[in-house]
Formats: sequence, C-alpha cells, structure tokens
Amino acid sequence: MTKPRVVITGAAGFIGSHLAETLLDRDYSVVGIDNLLTGDTANISHLIGRDFAFIKHDVTNYVYIDGPVDFVLHWASPASPIDYLELPIPTLKVGALGTHKALGLAKAKGATFVLASTSEVYGDPLEHPQKETYWGNVNPIGPRGVYDEAKRFAEAMTMAYHRYHGLDTKIVRIFNTYGPRMRINDGRAVPAFMSQALRNEDVTVFGDGSQTRSFTYITDLVDGIIRLMRSDTNDPVNIGNPQEMTIKDIAETIIRMTGSKSHIIYQSLPTDDPKQRRPDITRARTLLKWEPKVALEEGLVKTIEYFRTKVG
Ligand code: UDP
Repeated sequence: MTKPRVVITGAAGFIGSHLAETLLDRDYSVVGIDNLLTGDTANISHLIGRDFAFIKHDVTNYVYIDGPVDFVLHWASPASPIDYLELPIPTLKVGALGTHKALGLAKAKGATFVLASTSEVYGDPLEHPQKETYWGNVNPIGPRGVYDEAKRFAEAMTMAYHRYHGLDTKIVRIFNTYGPRMRINDGRAVPAFMSQALRNEDVTVFGDGSQTRSFTYITDLVDGIIRLMRSDTNDPVNIGNPQEMTIKDIAETIIRMTGSKSHIIYQSLPTDDPKQRRPDITRARTLLKWEPKVALEEGLVKTIEYFRTKVG
C-alpha cells in the first residue's frame, strides 16, 4: 500500500516542522513548502533523508506539486503579534491569497484540506470560555486585525470550498502553543520570558499581567491536528489546553523554573490585547476523543532545555 502523501505549507515553522516530523514518524510521505519569511530550515534539516521533500516557495503564488496528494495542511503565516505588526501585508496575503492557492491545490488533487486557524478569530472575547459557536469580538482596523481578519477570511474561503466545491475541509482553531523551535525573539510570552529569565534580564510583563491565556504543549497540539485531519468533521474545532492562567503567573513560573535572578517589570499593554482566553474543548473531546496530556511544568521543562541551547 502506498503511503498517504501530505503537503504542509509553513513546514519550516514552529508548528509546521513538528507536524512534518510526527507525520513522518507515523509513516506519511511529506512535502514541505515554506518561503522562510519567519520559518527556518534549521527546524527541518534533521528530516532530510527521510520521506520528506522541501520546496522553497511563497504560497501566495501558484503552487505546483507533481503526483498525488492526500492532505494539504495550510500552516504558512506569520503568527506572533510582533510578526504581524512588522509584516502586516504578507500576513494578509498568506491568509487570503495563500489560502486560496492551498485550497486550489487540494481541489486539483482531491485532497483533504486542513486550515490552521486561531483563537484570534474570537478577538477580545466576550464569551468565556470560547466555544466554536462564538462569532468573536474583533477590531478589523486595529494592528492585530491583519492576522485576525486574514484568518477569519481564510475560514470563510475554506467553508466556501467545502460548500461550493464539496471539498473535504477541516478548520483547527489553535490556542496559545509553546515548545521547542519557537524563535527566541518572536516576541510571544513564553519565548520572551524564557530568554529573559535565562539571561537574568528583566521579564517584561505587558499591562498588569492579569490578562489570561491557556498554554498547550506542542505534542498535544500536533496529536489534536492529526486526529482532526483523519476525522470526518468539517466544522471548526478548538485545540487548546483549558488550563487558564494569568500572564503574571506564567512569568513567575518561568522565573522559578529557570532558577533565574530576573525581576518582573511592567510595560504598556499592546493595542487590542485580549483580556482572557480559554478554549471550550467539548467538541475536540467528543468528536476527536482528544485531551491534552502534557502538564504545564512538564512542557516547560522541555522548552527550557531547548532555550538553554539557544540563549547565548
Ligand atoms: N506578553 C507579555 N510580555 C511579553 C510578551 C507577551 O506580557 O514580553 C503578554 C501579551 O501582552 C499577551 C500575552 O502575554 O497578553 C500573550 O502574548 P503572546 O504574544 O504570547 O500571544 P497572544 O496570546 O497575545 O497572541
């Protein structure tokens, strides 16, 4: 029997590279595409020599792949608040034009399409915890709007291909995820706090640190994505660890776990920074039998190990 073949856009990124590796481990053939705007070949160099091919390409342009394809996983996008402030137009383009090209590839190959969506589609949520039925509270013209609206458009385009073309599509709404291969300087809370703590520098908490997030370890997320890709649901599914904590708590936990001498300093809260975020995962539990397994401290230990090798 031939192996199922998967195309991953954004394969050199944090999540894309873990997805590629786990799919190879599970006997899939993988084609990775990335324009290396925020991705890094160091994340995938260890996959060379396995059933893995890499194409350097910007998926906002036509994507050509030879041979059969069973799944298209559309992961390409700048994904941290700093990235989308610095790269607003590439963020909009990959969410809109890139999603269109990736859907077109899936349609041409009769493949199942999976969209990497985000808890950002809920914006600064007025419903808590967030269920997939919640429509969100997004500022379209704020600095985060380029990401939030691109992903909302991508969801709309995905559902249009499903309804109009009968394409088998999946949408995963990813909540804050952490783990090895995050970029030290991507500006997100966990890598920022870890690199600051490991250097004994001030740890920069934005606002008063009372805003909440729910952090998922990368292996749990990847397991949820693979379950969704193999499921028969076409509705969006939240994948995230429902354990909610304040940003001040995670900063203190990281300072303690790294044995750091750092102190917290408070800086201004970015525009439209969501005050609370926690997934309702009833749908993932029921439809995918998915449950996060990695406790926060266990995931943080592995992530700190990785950051120790990166922080000079
Ligand atoms: N944050 C912070 N200090 C930092 C980086 C982030 O206090 O150096 C806060 C940020 O304002 C937000 C939370 O941590 O409230 C999570 O931010 P992140 O950029 O990781 O992702 P978001 O959930 O906002 O997309």
